[in-house]
Amino acid sequence: MPDNDEAVALKKRSPPLGAHISIAGGTSKAPMRANAINATAMQIFTKMANRWAERACEETECTAFITALGETAVRKTCAHDSYLINLASPDPAHRKRSIESFVRELERCEALRLDYLVSHPGNYIDDRASGLARNAEGITIALERAPGEVVLLMEMTAGAGTVLGSIFEEMATLIDLIPMPFRSRVGVCVDTAHIFAAGYDIANDYDGVWARFDDVIGRERLGMMHLNDSKVPLASRRDRHELIGEGAIGEGAFRRIMNDDRLEGVAKVIETPKLDDAEKTDRRMLERLRSYVWHLGV
Ligand SMILES: [Zn+2]
Ligand SMILES: [Zn+2]
Repeated sequence: MPDNDEAVALKKRSPPLGAHISIAGGTSKAPMRANAINATAMQIFTKMANRWAERACEETECTAFITALGETAVRKTCAHDSYLINLASPDPAHRKRSIESFVRELERCEALRLDYLVSHPGNYIDDRASGLARNAEGITIALERAPGEVVLLMEMTAGAGTVLGSIFEEMATLIDLIPMPFRSRVGVCVDTAHIFAAGYDIANDYDGVWARFDDVIGRERLGMMHLNDSKVPLASRRDRHELIGEGAIGEGAFRRIMNDDRLEGVAKVIETPKLDDAEKTDRRMLERLRSYVWHLGV
């Protein structure tokens, strides 16, 4: 059901908040789905995230997507890259394939005029420092090959196995290893479930965690947040998302986030379980988050 112009205009003035949206049937179907859950921000995959098969976004697709998007209140958009990409891999063939795939991710974002590409730092597998250097070099090569406006946001990880990027200092190092001018196209995405699983206690030390983030990474680099509660406890280093306010993080931290002026312009997207009805569950989660805002809450 399309909103009338007035409702769309009103929503466009509210902070960017949304969900990961399915592109089943084509990318141009996503904006309508985002609108159905009253989203003002949207994350999509631009291909099958668990397959190597690549595709380009042709002009007809891009026009359909951009037109559909224009009829919604969505004002911040991003794509999440494929889970197979590992720019830190010590295996030259896998790393080459990853760089290739990553370039294509950037190109599709550019074609669809998305604001951001969100990507996880890779797995170092052999040696942490070498992995970090390979990861930074892979990013640099890809950004050089895919010039444009899209901003790359490296996502903080939960820290399972040999994955990079679960520690603020390491994320800062990764970004610093990317030379200018490419570094200016790189920022950070904070996933609440990931940083909690990595040991940052946003439930009990909200201000402390952000103070540390500001010191080490810098708030100006925060481009986006994934709002997810966690099925697993603090510092468990596992990535298991839970419905907002129903996990180990709890509703208090999400209330703080929704009322934090410093986060107001930062796009926030949920990746919480969709249960048996994605539209209904996501709409309910966004309503829950909005109800946490003091001036709107009860
Ligand atoms: Zn992610
Ligand atoms: Zn996650």
